[in-house]
Amino acid sequence: MNDNFNKIKISVTKLLKTVPENVALVAAAKTRTAEEVKAAVESGVQILGYNYVQEAETMYKIIGSQVKWHMIGHLQKNKAKKAVQIFDMIETLDNVVLAQVLEKCCLEMNKIMPVLIEINSAKEQNKSGVLPEKAKELIYQISKLSYLKVKGLMTMGPFLANTEQIRPFFKLTKTLFNEIKDDNIPNVDMQYLSMGMSDSYKVAIEEGANIIRIGTKLFGGRVKRL
Ligand SMILES: *Cc1c(COP(=O)(O)O)cnc(C)c1O
Repeated sequence: MNDNFNKIKISVTKLLKTVPENVALVAAAKTRTAEEVKAAVESGVQILGYNYVQEAETMYKIIGSQVKWHMIGHLQKNKAKKAVQIFDMIETLDNVVLAQVLEKCCLEMNKIMPVLIEINSAKEQNKSGVLPEKAKELIYQISKLSYLKVKGLMTMGPFLANTEQIRPFFKLTKTLFNEIKDDNIPNVDMQYLSMGMSDSYKVAIEEGANIIRIGTKLFGGRVKRL
């Protein structure tokens, strides 16, 4: 019917065929229309990733709980309550103050929230994520909370044209993941490693990612870079 929707369906189907079975695909759906998102869901997308709570909320009203919802953007404290209502996982927790706010919201809603700890793997200034050397301490603190469950790590890595240059940052995050897993911290279940985007997901999977977050390769180019 519409070329654009057919393109999305073909892209999703193709990608799902090439991604190993143990790797979960998060469709990074920022800026996409409801029709575009529906086309992706109809083609087998089971997790939608959003950077903004409000955009997720708008789409949640249309798509509902037939898919899982992951927060993949920087979460502001004043959006924590809405975020807890909508999301099945928050992939971007990087500080204890936000963790405490989330804990309180979860308690009020009696909802357990799986979280990933976002790692600033390239130690870039003005980038979100906890520094690799601070991650363990943060996880120990979060592990004491009752309603948040640390399930693994997430990283963006630096924006570099050559994906091979991103590999060391994925490697570093995987090493950190293994170290924390080996610590066997009570209430921490290191299961997921979320890394890799359209340009870098193949390298990320080689380096141990089992969640990849893909936008452009499914939906085509975005008008504005968010
Ligand atoms: C947009 C986005 C992606 C996907 O990026 P693409 O290059 O479009 O695949 C992945 N992760 C996060 C956090 C994003 O904001």
